[in-house]
Order: sequence, then structure tokens, then C-alpha cells
Amino acid sequence: MALYDKTAHELHELLTTKKISATELTADVFSQIDKMEDKIGAYITLTRDKAEANAKLVDEKIARGEEIFPLEGIPCAIKDNICTKGIKTTCASKILENFIPPYDATVYQKLVAQNSIIVGKANLDEFAMGSSTENSGFHTTHNPHDLERVPGGSSGGSTAAVAGGEAIFALGSDTGGSIRQPASFCGVVGLKPTYGRVSRYGLVAFASSLDQIGPITRDVTDCALVLNAICGHDDMDSTSTAAQVPDFTKSLVADVKGLKIGLPKEYFVKGIDAEIETAVRNVAKKYESLGAEIVEISLPHTEYAIATYYLIAPAEAATNLERYDGVSYGARVDGADVVEMMTNTRTEKFGAEVKRRIMIGNYALSAGYYDAYYLKALKVRTLIQKDFTDAFKNVDLILTPTTPNVAFKIGEMVADPLKMYLQDICTVPVNIAGLPGISVPCGVAKNNLPIGFQLIGKALDEETILKAAFTYEQSL
Ligand code: GLN
Repeated sequence: MALYDKTAHELHELLTTKKISATELTADVFSQIDKMEDKIGAYITLTRDKAEANAKLVDEKIARGEEIFPLEGIPCAIKDNICTKGIKTTCASKILENFIPPYDATVYQKLVAQNSIIVGKANLDEFAMGSSTENSGFHTTHNPHDLERVPGGSSGGSTAAVAGGEAIFALGSDTGGSIRQPASFCGVVGLKPTYGRVSRYGLVAFASSLDQIGPITRDVTDCALVLNAICGHDDMDSTSTAAQVPDFTKSLVADVKGLKIGLPKEYFVKGIDAEIETAVRNVAKKYESLGAEIVEISLPHTEYAIATYYLIAPAEAATNLERYDGVSYGARVDGADVVEMMTNTRTEKFGAEVKRRIMIGNYALSAGYYDAYYLKALKVRTLIQKDFTDAFKNVDLILTPTTPNVAFKIGEMVADPLKMYLQDICTVPVNIAGLPGISVPCGVAKNNLPIGFQLIGKALDEETILKAAFTYEQSL
């Protein structure tokens, strides 16, 4: 197996035993990038020189006989809505096409502190709005499993990089499924931590009450390692939790005996492909055979999740995106006066989906409609949260499909935004409730495209998620 196809923990072993060097490993990943990037298009910016220089430093450290961090010398991709000082951070938007942040996101700093090798900034749907990466202002990313299909979104560049051997692991962000859905489409592991687990400082805001950064990896062990690296309270993010961060690798035990796993009946309905339903039910059977107890549960307000999300997220987005006015930073298109300049800038530089969200959001927030839409959505949000609180009185985990279908063809849904929004049916409730959720591969469909299942946990209980995910993976 090529180095670029291995997991971070395997590579760590090879690095510490001096079987390979970080320089070799980095070169191997870049050779795969040279071969595949034209076809996949996972990246917006590549940072080859920096990566090579950093790999050399890691090798010197190893040569000195010093101990290295678990992710030290491991090449990774960073979603391009995570600020990297001195490296362009575009959010895949023309409005930030030349934006170079003057500061680092906390998560990036944490990876740099581990001496991970940053390969580049990964493509996404503009400002993370989308489910296919087709909304990128620059190019569409292709699914490495079938180049005619989407990788999912919005972290499609990150997941395609990991699936295509163009990075060993990646960071994504998940506001309504943007880590889990593309992870499922690309056959990799993707985890959205509990809201507040990971600092959002330096993550370009889309919907601040929903956004969360998380790992995209080749297996569950790597997921725990990356989570270890990025979690923790941060004074720079007032919503980051002060809760203790456990060592997540301690959860990597294959044992689900006595665990109670709920299957919500609302997630196994018309609209979910039969092949997906069968695959996820087989996962449940597997858990049962390993000693878990499977029970049917109900999350009665699931049918309102999409409507709720597509009011709250655009409302917050409309507010967050006000800052791109051509004045402070980002692109500017001149006009006769200030208002015309702002209008020209936003008209020319925002893509269609971003404009659609801004319009929906401002409409929902406007006087006269606020109560009917935004406030109502907040009330339903509470009901959806309560569904989960009630369910978790009886179960330890909830098992669902991650997506209603496998990766679709590029172009297939662009003309129908509503159909695209329905892609998020299984993932948005988790963000609405602020809970942790993971997507884990569970085989392929008849057309050979990956299928993923989702495990949802109690707030701050990533440990049980990882334990169950690890158990499943080990059983294969
Ligand atoms: N597909 C969802 C949306 O377009 C989720 C995006 C995300 O999680 N960033 O809003």
C-alpha cells in the first residue's frame, strides 16, 4: 500500500521507527496530488514549499531522537473557511479571493503546534453553503470514487482529499451536515463534535449557533487522534465549553455489550433509498450480534428539521455576511457612491446560493415576518432538542443513515435547491440540537458508491460514539 493511502496512526509508527521520513511521506502525498488533483480538484491553495520545509524540521527532530506528537509529520488538508495566517483563506468565494488572514484559527494553531504538515486549503461550497461543492466560486470537486459525481459538501474538498490520497486527514466544518454528508459520500469517517467542544475562533462564520469544526479521517482511530488535537476550551471563543477533554484514544475499545442503541423510526421512511436503509439496518444487526440492545425510538419533530434549519442558518448567515461590504476587507467593486460600491461588490462577488440564503435570512428576520418565521423556527428548535433529550433518557446512542442516497451526479440537483436541501434531512437535526455525530462507512451500494451510517450521541459524549464506531470498524 502506498504511503499516501495509510492512516495517520500507521504512519506515526513508521515515522517513529524510522522506516520512513516525513520528507518521503510528504513527497508521496504530493506525487498523488500531482497525479490526481487535475481530476479531483480537492484544493483551492496548495502549500507545497511550506509543507516540504516543515517535513524537514520533523525529520531533524526525529534524527535528534526526540519524541514526536501523534500527528507530527502527517500531511493534512484544512477546509478553506478556517483562517491560516499568511495563507489565503477564500471560503471558496470571489469576495475573499485574495484574502490573507492576519491571524490563525485556534484549530490550525493546534495542528501547527503538533507539527502536522499542512498540504493545502481544501475546496468547499461558497461560505460552506451547500451539499455538493458545486457552489464553490472556483471549481467543483469530484468524488474520487466516481469522478462524474459530487463528493458531497460543503467540506467536499476535505473529504475528497482524504479519500483520494491527497491528504492523510483533514479538518472540515459542519453547520448542517457538512462533515458527515461528504464523509459518507466519499467513504471516510467524519465527526461533528458537540457544539462548543472545538473552538470556532478563526472559522469564518456561517451560522454561528450551529457551526462546529471536526475531523475527517480514514478510520476511527485517526478520528480520535485528531479530536484529541483540536478540542478544548478557548478564551477566544465564548461559546467554547470549559468541560474536561478526555483522551479520546481511550475510547478505542471494541465493546458494545449492554449499550442501548435507538433506531428512530422517522429516519427510516420514504425518501431514504432502500439500499441505504438495508445497509444501516445491517449495522444495527451487527451491533446486536455484538451484545448491544437495539430499540425503536421516535424523534417526532424530525419532519420540521429542514424547515427549521433553513430559517435559522440563513438568518444567521445573512447577519454574518453583512461584513463583506467592500470596505473593511475582501473584494471591492467600485461605484459612484458608497451604496453603489457595496451593491456592486456584493452583486458581483457573491454566488447565487449565498445570495439566496441572504435573501431568505433577511426575509425571515424582517419586521412583520420575524415572529412568523425566525421566532417560530427557534421554538421548533427547542422541540427538536427536547426530542433528543427525551430519547437519550432511554438510549446511549442513536443510529441513523447519514444521507438519504449515495453520491449523486454533478449537475443533477443544481436546478432544484429544495431537492438539494433535502439531502440534509438526517444531519441537520444534530446541529439544531448541538449534539455530536459521526459518519462511518458501512459498505457500498450496487453502483459501488460508499454508504455511511450516523451515530448521534449525548452532548459531550463523543467517547461513546467513538467506542461504538470503533467496535463496528473492528468487526469488519
Ligand atoms: N448542506 C447544508 C447547507 O447547505 C449544510 C452546510 C454545512 O454544514 N456547512 O446549509
